[in-house]
Amino acid sequence: MNSPTSSADRSCDVLVAGTGLAGLTAAIAFARAGFDVVSCGADERVARGRTVAMLDRSVAYLESLGLWPAIRGDAAPLRILRIIDDTGALLPPRPLEFHASEIGLDAFGWNVENDRMASALAVEANRTPGLERMSLAVARYDFSGDRALARLDDGRLIACALVIGADGRDSRARRSAGLPARPHRYPQRALTALLTHRLAHGDASTEFHTRNGPFTLVPLPPREAAPNRSSLVWLMSDDEARRRESLEGSAVEREIERQARSILGAMRLEGPPGFFAMSRQVVPKITSERLALVGDAAHLFPPIGAQGLNLGLRDVKAIAACAVDARDEGLDIGGETVLRGYERARRTDIFMRTAAVDGLNQALLARFAPIDLARGAGLAALGAIGPLRRLIMREGVAPRLAR
Ligand SMILES: Cc1cc2nc3c(=O)[nH]c(=O)nc-3n(C[C@H](O)[C@H](O)[C@H](O)COP(=O)(O)OP(=O)(O)OC[C@H]3O[C@@H](n4cnc5c(N)ncnc54)[C@H](O)[C@@H]3O)c2cc1C
Repeated sequence: MNSPTSSADRSCDVLVAGTGLAGLTAAIAFARAGFDVVSCGADERVARGRTVAMLDRSVAYLESLGLWPAIRGDAAPLRILRIIDDTGALLPPRPLEFHASEIGLDAFGWNVENDRMASALAVEANRTPGLERMSLAVARYDFSGDRALARLDDGRLIACALVIGADGRDSRARRSAGLPARPHRYPQRALTALLTHRLAHGDASTEFHTRNGPFTLVPLPPREAAPNRSSLVWLMSDDEARRRESLEGSAVEREIERQARSILGAMRLEGPPGFFAMSRQVVPKITSERLALVGDAAHLFPPIGAQGLNLGLRDVKAIAACAVDARDEGLDIGGETVLRGYERARRTDIFMRTAAVDGLNQALLARFAPIDLARGAGLAALGAIGPLRRLIMREGVAPRLAR
């Protein structure tokens, strides 16, 4: 691009590229910390039945930013987690049930539709002082000078000290900086849906472990004329996904009810289901000159155990804290110290979550008796050994390594 910083149309401290859930939260977090922020990205919504379960720590972080009251009304608490083996394994483990009260919590977390959360964050972003929203994508970057430069789709040039790359799995910021990514496609797709059902969920999320991946029902809050609602994430083979994509809604509803063993009674789809190809993507280095990646731009894995956005929010919290520390010490917020500190703070958490989700997914996909036995023994131990149960529950909700 080679444009001098002086020719920029707008200069700011931080440019956040991407207006997904991680990007909007990052833009608000930096602005609330007193930085001059530009947030770039289209006002689009993903819909297609997607929700996010945010765990206790994420809710606490959103609360600390003053954002939770705007989201809370659309969210349902997860107080009980059930795991039911439906793999047809030779020695199936007994169903497991975890209660948030066992680890002193009111709820493990809260489930909310992606689009409702994005809309609430967009409203908050628009009224946050120090935050300018530009509903345009970044077309090009130049990280070679003493300020980062971003050329927007309409030709405008923004100069900043730090770029937050929250631009998703195909991150242009990451590619422009030459940071490699190692993608891996699983032979699975996720069917996602919002459902109305006959019986109450009792604030319980139920996960059936099937041979093609988990089938997970997660509570949603009631709506007028729909007192019982849940979201579904159902991992299945590519062939099964193709078959179900071609079915009538009523046939999909029947298949969902059958797989759920009718625990919530008859099911009604609130809208057409979504289908998402399942991938993992490892990004060995999440920073480079004046760039820090957060959210799916920095890590990607299948939706097992509600980890993706929760990890993304921990990225946001960490990079904002590093930048505040640098500013307080009179250092460059896009300089070496900040980027090295952020990379160090996030490496282990990201690595551990990616490995854990991948391991569980592969263990379900494996049709190999010794792996089944090991998985069954692990689940049985979780059911029987109190301290282990509590450790795993705490690690799932509030990982020690991420503190
Ligand atoms: C089926 C499913 C269920 C899930 N369930 C959960 C769950 O229960 N709990 C959980 O924690 N996580 C869950 N996840 C993961 C979670 O949804 C994602 O991790 C999270 O939404 C990613 O947010 P993000 O902002 O990082 O990325 P994205 O949502 O991908 O947003 C990226 C944004 O960047 C924009 N963009 C792209 N290029 C540019 C550019 N050049 N300039 C500007 N903007 C750009 C895009 O338009 C987009 O708005 C689930 C994922 C799936 C697929």
